[in-house]
Amino acid sequence: MKPNTHKSNSETRRKFIKSTGIFAAGLALMPSLSIASESDKGMWSFLTGKQDDKLAVMGGKPLRTKAWQKWPMWNPQTDEKRVVDSIRSGVWSRAGIANEFEAAWAKTLGCKRSLTVANGTNALIVALHQMNIGAGDEVLVPPYTFIATVSAVLLNGAIPVFVDVDRETFQMDPDKIEAKITPRTRAILPVHILGLPCDMDRIMAIAKKHNLLVLEDACQAHLAEYDHKKAGTIGNAGCFSFQNSKNLPIGEGGAIVSNDDIFMDKCFAYNNYGYPAGTASGAIGNGSPMLGTKVRTTEYASAIGLSLLPYLETQTATRNENAAYLKAKIEKIPGIVPYKLYPKVNRAAFHLFPFRFQQQKFKGLSRAKFLKALRAEGIPCSSGYTPLQKMDFIKSAFESKNFKRMYTAAELNYEKYMENNKCPNSDILCDQEAVWFTQNMLLGTKSDMDDIATAIAKIYKNADELNKMG
Ligand SMILES: *Cc1c(COP(=O)(O)O)cnc(C)c1O
Repeated sequence: MKPNTHKSNSETRRKFIKSTGIFAAGLALMPSLSIASESDKGMWSFLTGKQDDKLAVMGGKPLRTKAWQKWPMWNPQTDEKRVVDSIRSGVWSRAGIANEFEAAWAKTLGCKRSLTVANGTNALIVALHQMNIGAGDEVLVPPYTFIATVSAVLLNGAIPVFVDVDRETFQMDPDKIEAKITPRTRAILPVHILGLPCDMDRIMAIAKKHNLLVLEDACQAHLAEYDHKKAGTIGNAGCFSFQNSKNLPIGEGGAIVSNDDIFMDKCFAYNNYGYPAGTASGAIGNGSPMLGTKVRTTEYASAIGLSLLPYLETQTATRNENAAYLKAKIEKIPGIVPYKLYPKVNRAAFHLFPFRFQQQKFKGLSRAKFLKALRAEGIPCSSGYTPLQKMDFIKSAFESKNFKRMYTAAELNYEKYMENNKCPNSDILCDQEAVWFTQNMLLGTKSDMDDIATAIAKIYKNADELNKMG
């Protein structure tokens, strides 16, 4: 069923309104009164006050006890052979299978090259390093992201400058970028956080105007698309993570993707002790011309990637379908405001499904109590990130020996840095509003999505009582 094909049943609607009593006032605030289908009944019976089950968190029966889709998923019959073969071959360090996985990932994204590395964090570190970003440079980052986005900047000796997010999309707000650009700004590091693409047209236009590089953190955005281009392939380079929870899991792994051969050759060399690779990093037999580290992938990890990659397309389609279905349902519940996508987003990856919880519309119920109640109903959920720009790891970098040699004391004035890097919108998401469901939940059925919506409605119905419980 498509959410926009819900038939409006005016008769049912009139009956519901008649029977709602005091809930009629609440209903008038709702964006739509249409009863979509049979499957919406659970949700509406609570919202209209018809049903009054006790919340599980208050000793009632949980709405759901059924398990959710486990992650990672693989089929022992078809997906283990490649991995077992690679182990039995005894060739475990990177070789042919790694090359094959890299070619397959580049082809999937429609870009020229992909380099698999040990993890997404090191993909970011290596990419920034080979973009020659280091001491004295500033990189624009969003605060609403995983810590590795920002650590990668600091580990290269550059300073992360935070651009606050748009709460409606959860992404770096393009309107706030230009105010943060200084003569030291070298790059923008947009993160397609939660797997929802950033407003790349705006970001690329600003980068072009100010001559900045763009490195996309697409670690949560496998197969997401903006204007029919895959996330990670729009900027100068993109980074992915294949960590176990990610939408394409290989245990630990990451990738750098780009159309720039020279850059990719340098990344390869850097990922392999600086040994010559391709044409850009010196000829084989001449010794190592450049400094390198070692963050290589393995054959068996690449074999897992090749085994699971064929599922990614259909899984992504399912996540998109279920996300749209769930969004259309829960946005009818007062106080539940799901994510918005930018107009040019064709597809998201939905590593996470986010919505904003509005406490005042839930009779003052705190988000923590809401989450606890939702979990008790059998719906796993989380409050997501905590404010990154305030975390002490940044201070610890500023206090490090290397930073003190690279920057003046005035440049490392942490109080001043904190003052210049306030992100009130991200703080509201972190501290009050954001609620996440994980991607594996979106691989279920429509009836699984109905359970989520009904459980939220059940809490809405009982919010007053739950809130008073203390
Ligand atoms: C997971 C993630 C990373 C880091 O990837 P790892 O493979 O865990 O090192 C970086 N950025 C974002 C946004 C991520 O979600």
